[in-house]
Amino acid sequence: MRFYCTNCWNDITENDKICSHCGADQTELHGEVFEEKLIRALHNPEPETVIRAANILADLKVLDALPSLESLIKINLDPFILAAAIKSICKIGGENYFYRARNLLKSKKSFIVENALKDCQSFLKLYKSK
Ligand SMILES: [Zn+2]
Repeated sequence: MRFYCTNCWNDITENDKICSHCGADQTELHGEVFEEKLIRALHNPEPETVIRAANILADLKVLDALPSLESLIKINLDPFILAAAIKSICKIGGENYFYRARNLLKSKKSFIVENALKDCQSFLKLYKSK
C-alpha cells in the first residue's frame, strides 16, 4: 500500500508523522477524510499537486471524484491538467464518462490533450473512432 501526504500528495512512508516534501502534519487523517481531501486537492493552486491528486484518484478509483474531475475539465486551460483529468476520468468512469469528457474538451485541443485522448482510447480499447 502506498501512502501520500494529504497536503502536497507526494509519496511518504507509513510511519512519517511529518511530510518530508512539504512539512505537513500527517497525524490526523484517514478513511473518508483522505478521499475528501484528495478531491479538494483538485482545486489546489499548484498544478503539480492537482495532477498528482488526479493520478492518485484514478489509482484508487474514487467514484466521488468524477464530478470534480469534470468541472476541472470545464474550467481549466492548462493542457497538463486537462490531460491528467481526462485520463483519470477514463480510468474511474470508463467509456461513457470518457466520451462526455472528450466533448467538454472540444475547444481545448492541443498536442498534449490529443495524446491523452489517444492513451485513454487504448486504455479503454476503443479502436473505432466515434
Ligand atoms: Zn507534503
